[in-house]
Amino acid sequence: MQNHFDIKNDSQLTLYNTIMSTGSIPREFIQRLLSQVDIVDLIDGRIPLRKKSSNNYFACCPFHAEKSASFSVSHTKQFYYCFGCGAHGNAIDFLLQFDRLSFPEAIDALAKHAGIDVPRETISNTAHSSIDTQLCDVLTRIAKYYQTELRQSKTAIDYLKNRGISGPIAKEFCLGFAPSGWENVLQQFGTTLPLKHQLYEAGMLIKKDEGGYYDRFRERIMFPIHERRGRIIAFGGRILDKGDPKYLNSPETPIFQKGRELYGLYQVLNANRQIERIVLVEGYMDVIALFQYGITYAVATLGTATTAHHLHRLFRYTTDIIFCFDGDAAGRTAAWRALLTTLPSLRDEIQIRFMFLPEGEDPDSLIRKEGKDAFEQRIQTAVTLSSFFFQTLSAQADLTSVDGRARFVKLATEHLNQLPPGIFQQMMFEELAKKGRTEIISAQMPPQMKLQKARAPSSLRLAIILLIQQPQLAHCITEPLPPIDLPGFALFFELIETIKNNAAYTTGTILEYWRDRKEGKLLAKLALLEHMIPASGIESEFLGTLQRLKKLANKQQIDQLLSKAAKGELSQEEKYRLHQLIHDKK
Ligand SMILES: [Zn+2]
Repeated sequence: MQNHFDIKNDSQLTLYNTIMSTGSIPREFIQRLLSQVDIVDLIDGRIPLRKKSSNNYFACCPFHAEKSASFSVSHTKQFYYCFGCGAHGNAIDFLLQFDRLSFPEAIDALAKHAGIDVPRETISNTAHSSIDTQLCDVLTRIAKYYQTELRQSKTAIDYLKNRGISGPIAKEFCLGFAPSGWENVLQQFGTTLPLKHQLYEAGMLIKKDEGGYYDRFRERIMFPIHERRGRIIAFGGRILDKGDPKYLNSPETPIFQKGRELYGLYQVLNANRQIERIVLVEGYMDVIALFQYGITYAVATLGTATTAHHLHRLFRYTTDIIFCFDGDAAGRTAAWRALLTTLPSLRDEIQIRFMFLPEGEDPDSLIRKEGKDAFEQRIQTAVTLSSFFFQTLSAQADLTSVDGRARFVKLATEHLNQLPPGIFQQMMFEELAKKGRTEIISAQMPPQMKLQKARAPSSLRLAIILLIQQPQLAHCITEPLPPIDLPGFALFFELIETIKNNAAYTTGTILEYWRDRKEGKLLAKLALLEHMIPASGIESEFLGTLQRLKKLANKQQIDQLLSKAAKGELSQEEKYRLHQLIHDKK
C-alpha cells in the first residue's frame, strides 16, 4: 500500500486532518506519552486494583455504584473497561473521566506522571494563560470585596433572607453585594492605569464617553460565576429593588464566553462524586434554591439559549439531562429550540428529557412550596425527547389527512437527519413511520443507516477484532489488500495503516487515533470482545480471515466485470482482467 490514506473527498480530508493534529500538542508526543505510562500504575494510584491474572486487574467501578468488581484493566492492551456501565478507554480517557480534566489538562497530568515535559508548538498559549490568570485573580479579589460588603449591608442581607436564601448557601455560592456608588471597584482595584485597563478587560468597568471609567455593577446582589476549577471568571448581578435590567451579566471577555459557561456547574461538581443527571434551569436563583433544598445537580445558562458547547460540557459529566422550562407557550417554544440544538449531539447513550412547570412557577418558587421529593417526582416524570418531538410536530399537522401526514413526515425527516447515525436515530425513524403510517421513510433514511442494518460479514468483523486486540498482527499483512465493497472495510484499512505507521502500539495507543470519531466507540467495543480463539491459533485465524476477504474482493470484481460484459461495455483491458480473475479463482 503506497499511499497512507486514500483521500477521495473533502470530508475525508477533514477527517484526515483531525486524525493527524490535536491543536498545539504534537500527535507524536501523545503517542510517545501513552507508550511510556502504564495504565495499571496510573489507575492503581487512584483506585486500588486487584490482580486477576498476569495481565488483568479488577476493581469496583469508579464510574457507577456497584458491589462486585466489574471494572477491568488490561496491562497488555493498556486499556480499561467496565462490564457494568461500559466505561472504557486508555490512560488519557481515564484522566478525562476520573479526574474530570480537559484533554490538554489530561496530557499535562499524564506527562507529569511519566516525568516528561509537554512540548508546546506555540508559546502564545502560556502567554495567554498568564493574562487569563491575572484576570481571574482580580475577579476573585473583587468577589471577596463584594462578600465583605454583603456582611455590612442590612438591606442586602434582608433581601436574601426574604428570598429564603440561607447563610451557608450564600457562602457556598460566594454571594456578595455591590454597594451604591459609581467608583467603588474603580478606586479600590484600579489604582494605576494598567490596573484600570485590566478591570475594563475583565468586564468590571464601563468606559465614559468623555474619558475615564465607572463601575458596571452598582447596588446589586452579586453572583460570581466560577469556571470548572473554581476560578471566578465573571459576575451576574441582580438589582435589589425595581429597576432595569433585573439581571445584569458581565460582558464577554477573554475569560468569559456566555455560550460556553454554566452557572452552578462548579458547585455541582464539588457536591457530587458521581453525577447521575443534571437539570438545566434558567436562573441563578433557581440553581441556588434547588441546591439549598438538596437538589445539588442543577445548572443554568447565563442569559442565553442552550448551545452545543453547553451540551458537550454537560455530556462530560452525565448522559442524563433534564431541561426545565415554564409550562406556558414561551416555555414550550424555548424547549423546542433547545431540542433542535441537542439533535446533532445526541449519541445513543444520551438521554434528554423535558420538564414543564405549572404556569406561574419557576424552580425557585416550586421547590420552596413542594420540597425535594415532589420536585424529584416531577423530574422522574419529565417527557422524553422523542415524545416531545412527535407531540410538537403532530400539533403542527393534521395527521388524519394524507397531506397532513406527508407534511408531518417531511418536517420530521428533516430534523431526524440531524441526528448522528445510530440506534436512536433508527428508533426515531421507525416511530415516525408508525406515526406517519407510511413506508416512505426507509427511502429517506441516510445511506449509512441501511448499511448498519445489514449484518457485516463475520470475516471482516473478526479481522477487525483480532487486529485491535493484537495490533502486531498488522505485520502479517505483506501484500496490499484489494478494495472490498463492505461496510467497515474502510475502517479495517485505516486500522492497518495506523498500526503500520505507529512504532509503539497497544490497543490503548491505537484507539487514541479514533478519539472523538464515531467509529472509536465501535472499535473500543470490539477491543474488549471475547473471541474465544486460543492464543496459539490467533495468527493463523487472522491470516484465514484475510484469505476469505481477498476471495470476496475477487468475487466482487468478477461480478462487476460480468455485469459490464452483459451490457457489452467491457474494454480489452477489462476482458483480460476478468480472464485473469476467473483463472485465479480456480
Ligand atoms: Zn462501571
